[in-house]
Amino acid sequence: MAEFDCDLFVIGGGSGGVRAARMAAQRGASVMLAEQGGTAGLGGTCVNLGCIPKKLYSYAAHYAEAFEESHGFGWEGQALSFNWSTLKANRRKEIGRLNGVYANLLTGAGVEVINARAHLVGAQQVEVDGRSVKARHILVATGGTPFVPDIAGREHVLVSDAIFDLDPFPQRLVVVGGGYIASEFASIFNGLGAQVTQLYRGEQILRGFDDEVRHFVAAEMRKTGVDLRLGVDVVSINKVPQGLDIAIKNSAGDISTLQADSVLYATGRVPNVRGLGLQEAGVKLGWDGAVEVDENYCSTVPSIYAVGDVTDRIQLTPVALAEAMIVVDQLFGPAKGKAARSMNYEFIPTAVFTHPNIGTVGHSEEDAPKHCGPVTIYRSEFRALKHTLSGSSERTLMKLVVQDATDRVVGLHMVGPDAGEIVQGFAVAMKAGATKAIFDDTIGIHPTAAEEFVTMREPSRKVAGT
Ligand SMILES: Cc1cc2nc3c(=O)[nH]c(=O)nc-3n(C[C@H](O)[C@H](O)[C@H](O)COP(=O)(O)OP(=O)(O)OC[C@H]3O[C@@H](n4cnc5c(N)ncnc54)[C@H](O)[C@@H]3O)c2cc1C
Repeated sequence: MAEFDCDLFVIGGGSGGVRAARMAAQRGASVMLAEQGGTAGLGGTCVNLGCIPKKLYSYAAHYAEAFEESHGFGWEGQALSFNWSTLKANRRKEIGRLNGVYANLLTGAGVEVINARAHLVGAQQVEVDGRSVKARHILVATGGTPFVPDIAGREHVLVSDAIFDLDPFPQRLVVVGGGYIASEFASIFNGLGAQVTQLYRGEQILRGFDDEVRHFVAAEMRKTGVDLRLGVDVVSINKVPQGLDIAIKNSAGDISTLQADSVLYATGRVPNVRGLGLQEAGVKLGWDGAVEVDENYCSTVPSIYAVGDVTDRIQLTPVALAEAMIVVDQLFGPAKGKAARSMNYEFIPTAVFTHPNIGTVGHSEEDAPKHCGPVTIYRSEFRALKHTLSGSSERTLMKLVVQDATDRVVGLHMVGPDAGEIVQGFAVAMKAGATKAIFDDTIGIHPTAAEEFVTMREPSRKVAGT
């Protein structure tokens, strides 16, 4: 009898889990994967409740401004109306298709997929669907789950998981939180026609991003109609015949009330570890439940690995995918002719799909001097060519942070249409160590907004190292 039922047992069929399972199987390992959501859960948060449905809704929301702006280009006629049910149904259909693609990818690679919740019963043993499975290695890729603070009326609030299928469409939506998920949904529902109020207790949304970017995007979001209120705490939420009453307190301690149809809490996500049996198996968890791992994503138990949001490092799909590949290389060897990979968290580009979008890679102006010494800032703010006719007052911000000692571009930030698409390409250059001189030597593509990144000649300011 074989000592183990499989070489690798993956708990969680999200971004990290599916990638690891598929690639390990392709390297000849026998692999089992458990997904508690069944086939409909394959793809995890990103496919079902995150990146993909959110981006589809963001596209939907941008049509509102596109119709509005089309008049300046000669388009005439009645404004079209928005059908929330159509969007939800089409999203469901597309996500169902993607779930099927993931299922086929896994089974095609030879992975045994188990549609059930799994938990550990030992360092090399998993219980799933009434079975006890002995695995040589176990990968925990169970992701994260929304966190809602303990406020009075907590039972009346929604989390992002529930927003995609909300019924009916919330005419008045309050979004609580200042992170990227809160800000994106504020923009999306504002674009779709809801009256949106975003409440955040801090002094500015999007903590951790470049300060100028944060202020700029907040101002742009307000221009589009989001009622963004900062320095505000929710005291309580009560159900009333007209919807929900939200009592809020400002920084001066004054209490006022808002009314809404729905309240979305996007106040962070915590690692999904409850009931997994990790600590019982000897796995050390951090203060927030995150699985503690080394540079190879191995936990404190040598047979148990973890990747993605459950380790609470950088909560992004491409990061979970890259981490999964490190584990596969470690356990089953690198792809033919390739060296084993290692993870590098430097220069991870990211986008925020607010309206307008943010695209960013590298250090912020505030962060750079701590890591890179003195830096020089180049910035450009302008009204995009499109808006000379569209009538929109939207503005674009582009910014470079350049290390004085090396001339290397160590930060690149944009607020404007398609910022994510634009910044992805520049991230390659920055990974390759591109200097400002190389940016200056690059010919622009005209007329685009992106060309501004290679035509900024005059420094805006110098920042001393700290
Ligand atoms: C609203 C929202 C928007 C986002 N937008 C973006 C974006 O634009 N770009 C981006 O890069 N990232 C985005 N993210 C983050 C991204 O979705 C995550 O970083 C990514 O999904 C993490 O992958 P993962 O494999 O760690 O976990 P997940 O994708 O969360 O997968 C975990 C899976 O494990 C399953 N599971 C949990 N426990 C068990 C168990 N005991 N047994 C069996 N199965 C279990 C879950 O059902 C789930 O399917 C967004 C997230 C949210 C919530």
